[in-house]
Amino acid sequence: MYKIIDTHCHIDMEQFDKDRDEVIKRSSENGVKAILVPATVVEDFEKEKELSEKYEPIYYMVGIHPHDAKTTNQKTYDEAVKHLNNEKCVGVGEIGLDYYYEHSPKDIQRDVFANFVELAIEKNYPVSIHCRDADDDLVDILISRKDVKGVIHCFSGSEKLLKLGLDLGLYFGIGGVLTFKNSHLKDVIKDVPLEFVVFETDAPFLAPVPKRGKRNEPLYIAYVIEKMAEILDLDAEKIAEIGFENAKRVFSLERI
Ligand SMILES: [Zn+2]
Repeated sequence: MYKIIDTHCHIDMEQFDKDRDEVIKRSSENGVKAILVPATVVEDFEKEKELSEKYEPIYYMVGIHPHDAKTTNQKTYDEAVKHLNNEKCVGVGEIGLDYYYEHSPKDIQRDVFANFVELAIEKNYPVSIHCRDADDDLVDILISRKDVKGVIHCFSGSEKLLKLGLDLGLYFGIGGVLTFKNSHLKDVIKDVPLEFVVFETDAPFLAPVPKRGKRNEPLYIAYVIEKMAEILDLDAEKIAEIGFENAKRVFSLERI
């Protein structure tokens, strides 16, 4: 049993509506100390706050997913600021750029991302960053913002994002992708300093082997930790402990 903080888990999504209680219960009973739930749209903020009040291990973040960047207006930022005062709101996310799907126009994605990054810096909160097929623009926006802190969520092994993260002191969210057969991350993980690794599921998505294709859940992080131990030839307990302490540090979860 490992001590685990799932730093990015959409347990608010409908895939968990039928058995959310049980999933959280078995997570807690098996070493999962905290589950961080990022928002994707403004309607999530209040819903997540309620979840965090109902379930002790749940913490949440406020932000707008790049897919929904086009829905953002001044009211969205005002709402986010309100939640940042809540003691269980621990970050700004998920925010970022997604040019693969491009559900929102690129220029709007860039503006909304930059605005949320500014907000996070101003309020001294970490960010949870989503980036797909937009490495160059992400670097452009972040490189001048040296005060940003947080996690490159769902890190998949991009050399550009690795360099950016190392330059800025960002953490790398490692999840199921590490266990995938053709994952490039397997080669790159050796270059990611352990003191900048945090674990995440991105549940219900991206379940690790041997659960690939099924609904993901916080406990499955154990498979990721074990895969990493195997690749790096290190003790899994040790890796789990480091990831746990890193997550506590970046999200200011001292009391866990
Ligand atoms: Zn996500």
